[in-house]
Amino acid sequence: MRTAHLSGRLVLVTDEGLAVDVEQASDGRFGPDPQDVYEVWSAFRGWQATAVLPPGRPFSPEELGAPAPRPRQVFAVGLNYRAHADESGYEVPSTLPPVFPKYVSSITGPVTEVDLPPDGRTDWEVELVAVIGRRAHHVAEDDAWLYVAGLTAGQDLSERETQLAGPAPQFGLGKSFPGFSPTGPVLVTPDTFADPDDLALGCTLNGEEMQKGRTGDLVFSVPALVARLSAVLPLLPGDVLFTGTPAGVGLGRTPQRWISPGDVLVSEVEGIGELRQTFRARPHR
Ligand code: ZN
Repeated sequence: MRTAHLSGRLVLVTDEGLAVDVEQASDGRFGPDPQDVYEVWSAFRGWQATAVLPPGRPFSPEELGAPAPRPRQVFAVGLNYRAHADESGYEVPSTLPPVFPKYVSSITGPVTEVDLPPDGRTDWEVELVAVIGRRAHHVAEDDAWLYVAGLTAGQDLSERETQLAGPAPQFGLGKSFPGFSPTGPVLVTPDTFADPDDLALGCTLNGEEMQKGRTGDLVFSVPALVARLSAVLPLLPGDVLFTGTPAGVGLGRTPQRWISPGDVLVSEVEGIGELRQTFRARPHR
């Protein structure tokens, strides 16, 4: 099953790529809010499995919002691909990877224009993103996929000056400028994939390949992350989990490379779709 956030409303996306409004198709049983559906995710899945849907309507990616626009918690995971830990100059984590917040105000849909922080060094990080569909606390790794509503694509845009400033790194702030957490275009349920643990992902900058990897190379898989995070705190319905980025970020290149005004960044995850960010200079203020 594929869902999306179209012009502020929850829709199902058919195999033909058409959008069916959920509130209308369910005669009001499920509301229009794309975030609220995660509170009733299993009932929604049950309804959807047998629902007879009206014809959908075509839409363009520019009309889409984030599949989970107002999560209560947004987790992001660092150093979760071996080659990216290497390029970053860190050891590969063994028991728990670094985990940090991306603040909710940075979340957007899949096609956006992003203001570059002045004097910054803004970098790309394509990531698989999981959305939680059921409260998860002390969940075993073997059961963890049952707590995931679906998967989407994300960019963990990162301004490295802010991220690495100060006596200890500021991951949360450096990765939470406005527009720095685009997600989408759709949410895809785990059962839709032949293997949800091994998806190709990558990104291009102005058409040039920057990152290319597979989620099968994650040091901590989606179920492992749900198990380890939920051992500490509850993951709540609609929470968002950025799972880490493969090698090829600007920070790890020689010479290092940063996003410039006018650049176009296209990020893609297999079976989900693509994000498209265009960058512009933000005036000093
Ligand atoms: Zn990241």
